Amino acid sequence: MKRMAKRRIVILFVAAIFVVGSYLFSPWSDLGDTAQPQTPKYIFIFLADGAGVAHLETTRMYNQVVHNEGLTTTDKIMKEGSVGLMTTHPADSLTTDSAAAATAMATGCKAKVGSIGSCANGTMPKTVLEVAKENGLRVGLVTNSTIYDASPAAFAGHVPDRKLYATIVDQYLKLEPDLLFGGGRDYFLPKNQAGSKRKDDNDLIAAFKKKGYAYAADKRELAAVKGPKVLGLFSLQEMSFELDRDKEKEPSVSEMTQAAIRILEEGNRRGFLVFIENENTDSGSHLTDVASVIHAYRDFDRAVALAYEFYRKHPRETLILVTSDHDTGGPGFTLALEEASGRQAKRMIATEKDLKKIHSIPISLKKAADILGRNPTSESIDQLMQNYFKGFTLAPDLKKMLLDHHIPGRNIYTDPIANCLGLMIANNTQMYWHSTGHTNQPVFVAALGVGADKFRGYQDNTDFGKHLMALVRDDNSGRLGTNPGKPSNL
Ligand SMILES: [Zn+2]
Repeated sequence: MKRMAKRRIVILFVAAIFVVGSYLFSPWSDLGDTAQPQTPKYIFIFLADGAGVAHLETTRMYNQVVHNEGLTTTDKIMKEGSVGLMTTHPADSLTTDSAAAATAMATGCKAKVGSIGSCANGTMPKTVLEVAKENGLRVGLVTNSTIYDASPAAFAGHVPDRKLYATIVDQYLKLEPDLLFGGGRDYFLPKNQAGSKRKDDNDLIAAFKKKGYAYAADKRELAAVKGPKVLGLFSLQEMSFELDRDKEKEPSVSEMTQAAIRILEEGNRRGFLVFIENENTDSGSHLTDVASVIHAYRDFDRAVALAYEFYRKHPRETLILVTSDHDTGGPGFTLALEEASGRQAKRMIATEKDLKKIHSIPISLKKAADILGRNPTSESIDQLMQNYFKGFTLAPDLKKMLLDHHIPGRNIYTDPIANCLGLMIANNTQMYWHSTGHTNQPVFVAALGVGADKFRGYQDNTDFGKHLMALVRDDNSGRLGTNPGKPSNL
């Protein structure tokens, strides 16, 4: 009996070692448990700024027709995960800006246009990124806008006015996110240094280095940089449109995402939360530049694909959210008349040919406007059309508008030259824009992984923030669900 008991103890001991060992060392350790974990260890928040459903669908069609490629957001995240529709309005208007929208998504409260991390009711709650950091997760911000721009800032800063850029950068230094990648070196340089926009002598790059950050200023340095904490500033102001980007020097959003995953994953036990934005879906839409929007969205989707690969390795520990803060421009392929002269004119329908035509555009409309300058001549306009818009025609009324410096509409954010060229592209491809500003269209939320179900259905953008906060806090008490019906302060 004694011997049998001893043998049983030995067998149990060996079995226990095997079970614990296989849990700790198996590459499938996160698959070993049958119960679905409630909270994600790794959280990706992807934001295509200003990109509504039409931006997504246009890029999906373009990928299919021009490159015979799919789109990870629609083909993987939406098909394998869940899809929701989200309101975007702020507290004080029907249509939002990025600051109020990102504040709602980062904190769960309604904010006024222009507010960063501060609510319309006067409170200043912590953001999901701050709470994640407190809970031991590593945190990062990635954007091709300036790093202090409204959307990333609303996840890690608190200022009443989004234009308080120096204060936002100072708050980043205090908070110490593990990773900051983007443009906007101008607010990190002391005032006597070329390109600086600061009003003080503080050298923020030196201050970050003093706190143990490695620093990268171009694509080569980004590839070599090592964590645990990294500051990457890849241009003085906003980073380039994908069509104009110097691919040797400046990293794309997907390249920054690749580096971010590598750095945040290194030696990381508790997990991470990373916010990844492509700003040029918004900037391109303000300029009614469909080619730039598509190229920005394609790179954004490549970044999503990297997160999807990560999810496949850690399916029971990862949450991927792909969404936007608002729609910009309300674009869409539509019916149009061949000429503006009368109702007898032939109706034009959009076809695959139009997507291929958009594919032939080699520069952004920002660059095209820079080439023309503020006072274009008839010759410089003809030259631009010949060099960059082969197969496109410029109607006489639009040429006159370009020469007269006439603003083609009353929307704000209008660049007269770029928007005129945008109208030229619309007339040639049937891709028209509702405006050059933000619209009140709801945006989609695609979610995959742990907690994805919470983002299903029709929700207010404050619910997005509340769900995310509950997941980060490990608190699924279910006190969510505000009425998304109307702006709260109207
Ligand atoms: Zn915008």
